[in-house]
Amino acid sequence: MSIIELKNLNVHYGEIPALESVNVSIENGELVSIIGPNGSGKSTLFKAVLNLLDYSGEIKFKGKSSKNQFNKIGYMPQSSDVDVNFPITVQEVVEQSQLGKRFSKKKVSDAIQNVQLEGLEERNISELSGGQLQRVFLARALAQDSDLIILDEPFSNTDAITEESLLILIKDLVKEGKTVLMSTHNLKQAQEISTKIVLLNKTVVCYGSPKDVCTKEHLLETFRQNILISSETGDITLSDHHHH
Ligand code: ADP
Ligand code: MG
Repeated sequence: MSIIELKNLNVHYGEIPALESVNVSIENGELVSIIGPNGSGKSTLFKAVLNLLDYSGEIKFKGKSSKNQFNKIGYMPQSSDVDVNFPITVQEVVEQSQLGKRFSKKKVSDAIQNVQLEGLEERNISELSGGQLQRVFLARALAQDSDLIILDEPFSNTDAITEESLLILIKDLVKEGKTVLMSTHNLKQAQEISTKIVLLNKTVVCYGSPKDVCTKEHLLETFRQNILISSETGDITLSDHHHH
């Protein structure tokens, strides 16, 4: 059964189209990575699914189109979308996960423990490292206890320890039968861990198994230039920016 279905999804910012006729259907229990250049609409797609912005077309979550999806889906925003100057504590951010449902103190404290932030509950989010900040929003997503978890560039701006534990957490979520949808610039890792990959550039260039999707031709069509994969990190580098 598909947990999320996007049909002819279009999003504009004013006159400028960010997504055009996006069609994707994601099955229960999959780990789907979205890959595309900066500005290709990855974050916009997530925000549309969460009903954080206006769109045309259809978004079905568990077979139903609802305009009130936000508190049914676990969401970790891209770190650049987080306003760290907003006066709020770690505890308060994670408690946002319980809005609109029966408040569970245990889900909040379990999630904080799960991402190893115990002891920092009363700390303001402005006083955290980049990796700690990401783990706060990951904890909020986990405490949602949703069947669908959306992670927007979880591996960017993080430290090695956070990255390693994040990877284990993601794999555990999938083992538990949850569906994970994430954006990433790490092609090598995405190929290793994902069940499906979406190549996005305003519209879906290609969607399917990592093996079928990640061909030179499809990647060239998506990035509109040759790319290199860093042998060290697995990250995508645009070859025009690469000098020897
Ligand atoms: P990605 O996450 O793939 O980098 P985004 O979804 O953030 O891409 O952005 C897609 C396009 O929409 C980009 O051209 C970006 O400049 C534009 N955009 C994103 N957010 C806004 C906004 N709030 N107002 C206007 N344009 C936006
Ligand atoms: Mg983005």
